[in-house]
Amino acid sequence: TFHTKALVIATGGLGRVYKTTSNGAVATGDGFALAIDAEIPLMDMEFIQFHPTGFYGLGVLVTEAARGQGAVLRNKDGERFMEKYAPKIKDLAPRDLVSRAILTETQEGRGIDGEDYVHLDLTHIDPTIIKENLSEINELSKNFMGIDPTQEPIPVAPTCHYVMGGIPTDENGRVIDEEPLKGLYAVGESACVSIHGSNRLGCNSLIDLVVFGKRTGKSVSNYIKEAEWPEEPETNDFLKEHIEEDGEEKVHEIRFELQSMMTEKCSIFRTGEDMKKALEILNTLKDSYGKIGITNKEKVHNYELKEKLELGNLLKVAEVIIHSALARIESRGAHYRNDYPEGDDENWLKHTLIKQNDEISIEYKPVTITRFKPEERKY
Ligand SMILES: Cc1cc2nc3c(=O)[nH]c(=O)nc-3n(C[C@H](O)[C@H](O)[C@H](O)COP(=O)(O)OP(=O)(O)OC[C@H]3O[C@@H](n4cnc5c(N)ncnc54)[C@H](O)[C@@H]3O)c2cc1C
Repeated sequence: TFHTKALVIATGGLGRVYKTTSNGAVATGDGFALAIDAEIPLMDMEFIQFHPTGFYGLGVLVTEAARGQGAVLRNKDGERFMEKYAPKIKDLAPRDLVSRAILTETQEGRGIDGEDYVHLDLTHIDPTIIKENLSEINELSKNFMGIDPTQEPIPVAPTCHYVMGGIPTDENGRVIDEEPLKGLYAVGESACVSIHGSNRLGCNSLIDLVVFGKRTGKSVSNYIKEAEWPEEPETNDFLKEHIEEDGEEKVHEIRFELQSMMTEKCSIFRTGEDMKKALEILNTLKDSYGKIGITNKEKVHNYELKEKLELGNLLKVAEVIIHSALARIESRGAHYRNDYPEGDDENWLKHTLIKQNDEISIEYKPVTITRFKPEERKY
């Protein structure tokens, strides 16, 4: 238990909810879970961005810079398939569209060797340009995949990259639950100031961090100068409870099942039927979570315990993603429903606010439109 005047949640994203992610191992959604436990709403959690080009099987990112320099995506027939999906801008189409195109190709049997990946082809680009302008991709490709991208195409598949939703804040990082909450702040990917809408553009996360990081820092520093110390909270031995639980279930097995289920049923393509099934599976995984036994009974440097707690957070976060996505019966940005493929501004131009009290409850609030009016996307 910490006694503090102010708390800033800055724990980053939640990529580990999915089987493949560009995020680090720390992206287990801890900050979101903290908010869920505190019965604070999370906003727009259905909007999860998949980056189209992760190294196949690893998820490590191959940035857009490669396609910016002329790399193209090809299916098993060598076809430059993005010409079909975005005739004007082809391989440079937005992340959601390219991710769906790759999945469509592989699901229709045009993946490489019939598998669920395609090729990112740089072999026609001058090797000097690859070495000078794409040096990171050149190195990563050799180190992670054993592939020299000047000679061979890189196997790629979509990878979970970013969450547009998060803990709702105002422009000074103050967490909002109808009104700003005293002393509670969130910033970065765990926050949702909502400048990325339903589909973040490349590079805008770092701008978000710089701008709202500074604003939040100033706002916290002003607040703690004035604020009284709150009463000291009661402590409870939360870790003891987890350490003492006995059971046969294993963290890694439940985590693998969760990640597989989320990837299959609530990722790039979504349907109501799949997501209802996902909730059923999630309930069985939550039951299994309650039966996890850990062998290490130490309270410090206990990685087994840490993994268990992180899995608990992943389960909570997965649940709010599925509920938010199931409720939004339209397609918008990174949220694509095969059963509702069109956008529906009349009914759905609104933010989702999801809260877990005894049960999950969802409310909506209007989107503030300023300079740019929503338009149909055409590529
Ligand atoms: C490979 C990759 C490339 C990217 N490239 C770009 C780009 O070019 N441009 C762009 O704008 N965006 C990019 N992004 C997105 C952007 O980097 C992230 O959205 C951003 O870094 C998130 O910053 P953050 O500070 O919110 O979270 P993070 O940088 O993830 O930091 C969160 C911190 O919280 C810590 N933490 C987590 N849980 C706990 C806990 N329970 N207790 C204590 N500490 C905890 C973590 O260890 C970590 O240090 C990229 C992302 C990836 C993965």
